[in-house]
Amino acid sequence: MDGMIENSIAARDIRYLVHGSVDLARQRQNPPTMINGGKGIFIFDENGTPYLEAAAGMWCTALGFSEEELIEAATEQMRKLPYYHTLAYKSVTPAAELAEKLAALVPIENAHLYFALSGSEANDAFIKFAWYVNNALGRPEKKKIIARKNGYHGATLGSASLSGISANHKLFDLPIANILHVSDPHYYRNGLPGESEAEFVDRLVGEVEALILAEGPDTVAAFVAEPVTGAGGVVIPPAGYYTKLQAVLDRYDVIFHADEVINGFLRTGKMWGSEAMGIRPTTMSMAKAITSAYMPLSALALPSWFYDAMERGSTEVGVFGHAATYAGHPVSCAVALKMLEIVERRNLKAHVETVGARFKERILAFKDHPLVGDVRVIGLMGAIEFVTDKANKTSFVPTGSFAKRLRDHAEERQKLIVRAVPAGDSCAFSPPLVITIEEVDEMFDRFAKALDEVTAEVG
Ligand code: PLP
Repeated sequence: MDGMIENSIAARDIRYLVHGSVDLARQRQNPPTMINGGKGIFIFDENGTPYLEAAAGMWCTALGFSEEELIEAATEQMRKLPYYHTLAYKSVTPAAELAEKLAALVPIENAHLYFALSGSEANDAFIKFAWYVNNALGRPEKKKIIARKNGYHGATLGSASLSGISANHKLFDLPIANILHVSDPHYYRNGLPGESEAEFVDRLVGEVEALILAEGPDTVAAFVAEPVTGAGGVVIPPAGYYTKLQAVLDRYDVIFHADEVINGFLRTGKMWGSEAMGIRPTTMSMAKAITSAYMPLSALALPSWFYDAMERGSTEVGVFGHAATYAGHPVSCAVALKMLEIVERRNLKAHVETVGARFKERILAFKDHPLVGDVRVIGLMGAIEFVTDKANKTSFVPTGSFAKRLRDHAEERQKLIVRAVPAGDSCAFSPPLVITIEEVDEMFDRFAKALDEVTAEVG
């Protein structure tokens, strides 16, 4: 705790608060930066120093950090009805209205919506519901779920099991049974020497089919994926991957669950990552930008045949035995309704298209840098992957160390928050969707300075 005042809020924080995604021992020496304010795409630390937030928090504050209309929507709903539940034959108007609104927006016919509070909880509910449905449909063997290495789906028992990141499994005794993982469709990193994109696609889709056949199609319920992998490094599968994959899944009656927690609500430039990537999802989970993260909320969209099977199961049991105190929380749903209204009224899609073009142009320019191996971009999400040797795609040792160093440097010296992510050694960008063209330039100008400085340091 170098130079830390013993009783500062940061010192008290680490004395009492358990944090995730940190090295807990290192954190004892490096207490957190306390963030006390936000405006537009900037956040402020406790000294009032502004930082340009190029990660939108956790890929989530779509409308930035000071959207008055969302604050008003929450306040108004708090005054009207701060809480009631949606269980035991009761409901609340914002939840009903939001379900109706989302049903019209998702690419799923006659969708029913289940509400929860986090992406993890929505994906966990998906696993439970898929198992319930297959039991209700009289196929109790059909329970296995295939997910991908390097995908991220959450922190709860089921969703962390779906995640394909080893730190989410090790020492936690995860994954749970019935969860299988296949290769990450990151062509730059996982393509074999001399393998074309088309051959890579065939190999990966072939791996999925071989796994389904080896396990027995009657035992495989679902395939789960983020259309564009977010936290795992902004991985955009090559053309043809999803078309071929869905043909295989259809052949064996395996449903596609799209995790839209990061992708959803225009992050990819389209309303849904599924739309951007040409996926026909059976079910979808969404969270984060649904409220611009101002209130916790997630949703799980289910097709009518799936819901009908849930109904059949609940008739057998006597009740649908999955309930949560805060499911359909009126304040969260009121904020989400306002968020969706703003998206339409301000034509955020057109805005993302316009600034997305500049974002793409600026991020692709880093391809020429001697330490940049790969640049990936779609909509307003992108990643830059670093290598020591472009020709051989050699990563820094240990893998990820350069991106972390650059992230820390960018924060300290350029007052720019970027995310260091797996998929080789990458820095990811996912600014608030309301970012302007000038701010896109400022973001990448700051990043370029940090990159030059760190490149000079590593020689
Ligand atoms: N799914 C994806 C794609 C995510 O990126 C995340 C979180 O980053 C989750 C699920 C889990 O969401 P939450 O952290 O709200 O539980």
